[in-house]
Amino acid sequence: MADTKWGEIYKELGAKPIINAIGSVTMLGGSTPIEEVKEAMDQADQAYIPLMELEERAGKAIADMVDVPAVYVTSGAGSALALASAALMAGDDDKRIEQLPDTTGMKNQILIQTRQRYWYDRCLEVAGAKLVNFGTEDGTTREDLEQAIGPDTAAVHYYAVEQSPDVKILPLEDIIEIAHGKGVPVTVDAAGQIYPLELFGKYVRMGADFQCIAAKYLGATQSVGLALGTEEMIRKISKQSFIGYEGRRVRGIGRPHKVDRQEIVGAVAAVRHWMTTNHEERLASIEVICQTMMGPLKGIPGVDVVMMDNIIGHQPFGLQVRIDASVTGLTAQEVVVKLKEGDPPIWTRVREGEDFIILHAFGLSKGEDKIVGERIAELLR
Ligand SMILES: *Cc1c(COP(=O)(O)O)cnc(C)c1O
Repeated sequence: MADTKWGEIYKELGAKPIINAIGSVTMLGGSTPIEEVKEAMDQADQAYIPLMELEERAGKAIADMVDVPAVYVTSGAGSALALASAALMAGDDDKRIEQLPDTTGMKNQILIQTRQRYWYDRCLEVAGAKLVNFGTEDGTTREDLEQAIGPDTAAVHYYAVEQSPDVKILPLEDIIEIAHGKGVPVTVDAAGQIYPLELFGKYVRMGADFQCIAAKYLGATQSVGLALGTEEMIRKISKQSFIGYEGRRVRGIGRPHKVDRQEIVGAVAAVRHWMTTNHEERLASIEVICQTMMGPLKGIPGVDVVMMDNIIGHQPFGLQVRIDASVTGLTAQEVVVKLKEGDPPIWTRVREGEDFIILHAFGLSKGEDKIVGERIAELLR
């Protein structure tokens, strides 16, 4: 890495580059495309291609690799959720496709467990659908779902979090059984459920009609995502696509969700790499980065560092740095602020009211692991 040039392209604009020890966060750039993806994207520059055909072929290639019936490359997982909700309401009806986000005359409710409300569920509403809770904060029963399904129910949504399962929610198996029993489709947000590999596409293989994946976690550009699903669901999603404006002369809500041809082939390259790479080596190298970050933090009074050992999902390992402010003189929140004020700024994560900082390897460039560990140690010593 040419250190003298670090971040120069941003500095020229008067913007300040940062060291990202938070992980894959959209606000900071989300991901750095891997070499295989950049190469594919460069090759795509050579020729133009009808995007309807490219979407179909790319989707087929990814579907075969992941073992699901069909795939559509979208403008991020958030876009996959938005297009899916539109597809559930409008189906194959072009009049309805052009009517959204006005949902008059359509089933427009998407059911979600009260305990599963989450930050990105908003993406399901942008096409005009309304989220409706079922169950309570204390849990969800089969009866809760059976009673919640009504004439306006367009789908039941489920948020998959295999790295920290919630035993009080109604499991996806039950949701699929009950919803499908009443002819209602099931959607799943599985944006980060990509490792172990059997998780990749698992929910569609279980019977869900749709699930999304965020390609930002796969080494693609963060501006792409994947809609996985049944042939029917993916066909309906494709009709919501930005391409429809020219390709079908139908103006759906998807126009602002544009994807480059470069990004589409990049997404294929990212999935191919993910499905064939040596994940033991990947995990081992991330563990080494975390250990390097941890080195300078060991043995500091009032500081307790542990390596997290979770490898499920998209962000393996990471460090939890617990700070006893009565010993170090600084709270975790104060450390995070000071790190951001440093040169270069280092971004880390702390939650309000918590006494520990979380560090992840995902967004660190070569050599930054050591810098992060040392800068935190300097503040706390
Ligand atoms: C990142 C993420 C999203 C949004 O994905 P984008 O590709 O950034 O639009 C949705 N759901 C979950 C669980 C995510 O982690």
